[in-house]
Amino acid sequence: MNNEQLKKLQYQTQLLHEIVEKSEINVVTCGNCGSALLHRISVEEIECPDCGFKSEPCDFPDLFFETFYPEKKMTKKTFKEKCHFQHFSGGVNRRNAIYFDYKEGYGWKYKVKAHSSLINSKDLFNQFYEWIVNDELKPDYSEIRVAETDGERFKIAISG
Ligand SMILES: [Zn+2]
Repeated sequence: MNNEQLKKLQYQTQLLHEIVEKSEINVVTCGNCGSALLHRISVEEIECPDCGFKSEPCDFPDLFFETFYPEKKMTKKTFKEKCHFQHFSGGVNRRNAIYFDYKEGYGWKYKVKAHSSLINSKDLFNQFYEWIVNDELKPDYSEIRVAETDGERFKIAISG
């Protein structure tokens, strides 16, 4: 998702918040059948008109949350903590590589590897972040790979 899309979605969420605040009526989804329904925010129990499910408001997730609220973006700091940095030191093939999204016993899902030894890990990391978190690709100075299945995940020896 790019930034422009994110802003538009946040605006939708904001408008819905304003409606709920002014009307004191919320739009939720039934925790049992998934139908959308309206209720006054003051009530302690909600009944689904579709399937008859009765419960507390916590069992009826907000519709705007389900529909509009985009995933919070990971900050660079958080992302960095979840990455593994590797430096290949084999002569001509000296390159930086970074991996992300580890699954125990299987390995890493995402991999980025610099095309040249001149690309430092900071630049490589920035590109990796743009690709994974912002869904954008910056100038191509690396090779990117995604493991589509667990079996294809990148298994690397972690040293240090
Ligand atoms: Zn229902």
